[in-house]
Amino acid sequence: MNYLLVVAHPDDEVLGAGATMYKLAGEGNSVSVCILSGEVKARDRRPETNELHEDLNDSLNILGVAQIIKGNFPNIEFNTVPHLKLVQFIEKAIEDTNSEVIFTHHPADLNNDHLHTSLACQAAARLFQRRPETTPLKELLFMEIPSATEWSLNKAINSFNPNTFIEVGRKAVDKKIEALAQYRGVMRDYPHPRSGEALRGLAAYRGGQAGMVYAEAFESVFRRGF
Ligand SMILES: [Zn+2]
Repeated sequence: MNYLLVVAHPDDEVLGAGATMYKLAGEGNSVSVCILSGEVKARDRRPETNELHEDLNDSLNILGVAQIIKGNFPNIEFNTVPHLKLVQFIEKAIEDTNSEVIFTHHPADLNNDHLHTSLACQAAARLFQRRPETTPLKELLFMEIPSATEWSLNKAINSFNPNTFIEVGRKAVDKKIEALAQYRGVMRDYPHPRSGEALRGLAAYRGGQAGMVYAEAFESVFRRGF
């Protein structure tokens, strides 16, 4: 199966589905990541761009990601980019990877780029209906990004409400934390949500919700029988 993660920034993919990517790649699936912003200028502890690309490659090597597609949309300014430009970039990523299952941000996430990524990805996910030669989509899922998704303060939009739990086990959680640590300036000390302890705790909690040994949780919003 071909999986595609569509995220706004480098590290979102690991926070949202790092352990799941490790598991899926280990089972022989093809996992690709599309990152809309390779820019880092709004990060408070920013590395140089070449360092960021090194970190990204090191991180996704650990998880077994087959392909990384990088966009150059401006960090924390996706609201200034025409919606259609984001949609077309994601559509090309879907076509190039023959993706069948897509993971993206939840639209109630406080981070404005995450919102715009989610909206554009929802529109792009329908590509197979418009272009019959495109591999049909089997499932679209929203991820939770610790330190952003839980800050869904706008109560006019439904918050993240997981209905899909993927058991990953302890080793994949360790790999997720190891992969995230490749990104300079991202990990923090507990009790920050981007600490090893908080990420391990979240995986234990999500596993406990579904009777599983560590899990990542998702909200499936479109599923075509398979
Ligand atoms: Zn982000």
